[in-house]
Amino acid sequence: MSEPIYIGGFSGGIDSQAAARFMLNRCGAARVVLVNSDAGGNKHPLTIEHIGWYSAHVHPVARVQAIVRDMWVNPDTAAERGFDPNEPLTFVRMAEMRRIFPSRKRQFCTDKLKLQPIRRWILANYPDGNYARFSGVRRDESLARADRQWLEWDDFYDCELYNPVYDWSKQMCFDYVKQHKEQINPLYSLGFTRVGCAPCVNSNKDDILNWATRFPEMIDKVRVWERHVGRTFFAPCVPGMAINWVDDVVAWAKTDRGGRQNNLFRILPPPVCESRYGLCE
Ligand code: SF4
Repeated sequence: MSEPIYIGGFSGGIDSQAAARFMLNRCGAARVVLVNSDAGGNKHPLTIEHIGWYSAHVHPVARVQAIVRDMWVNPDTAAERGFDPNEPLTFVRMAEMRRIFPSRKRQFCTDKLKLQPIRRWILANYPDGNYARFSGVRRDESLARADRQWLEWDDFYDCELYNPVYDWSKQMCFDYVKQHKEQINPLYSLGFTRVGCAPCVNSNKDDILNWATRFPEMIDKVRVWERHVGRTFFAPCVPGMAINWVDDVVAWAKTDRGGRQNNLFRILPPPVCESRYGLCE
């Protein structure tokens, strides 16, 4: 068999961008395929713009949208249960169908909105199976990823999986991409640490406050979704709050540790650039 095609997810975040650059350098553009799933429409417009810029100026990124069929492993299940399998699967539609939003403990959004649609796309476009995957996972992201290796077997996609930045820090990913003079998702310069979704169900306190301060429309969107589904977007885990609707969570994000007192410095207007990764010139 000839050398495989290397297929990588391109989320618009720095880790997948660094991994893509590494694979482009090592394997050549002709053997690298990048694909992005729109995460059920939960990406910020700046992230979508960044992916468009990358696709036009660096390397094409194929766009995939989740559909209701992706809710199940068996492609026939949606129709058997009376759903339209080709209906676009938005973030809120997914939560409505599961009657709950995803959370750190039940992170089904990754599976339904990213892994399943991308696998469907790969099977349709590369039926000969001569491909390997690569990803931007890093060991220091979480304990669950602490044992990741350069080369693994990917059971889900049934192929080899390369993790070129597995032992890099996030700062190394920024430095590497900057060295290659590629644009970086502007949300990082605005102080965000997670840019995959806007917001992510796993957003930390600073990111939640940042969404509320800089892009309140993202919080408005979540408030509408919560009313529609009748469940909270963020898992109810803020101490001292029985149920954490999004406005409770934003109020908590304005407080210091302990969650009782507002901190003036947390609620002052943010500076123009507050990147933690040395992105200001
Ligand atoms: S970025 Fe967060 S909310 Fe979006 S799919 Fe990943 S885990 Fe889910």
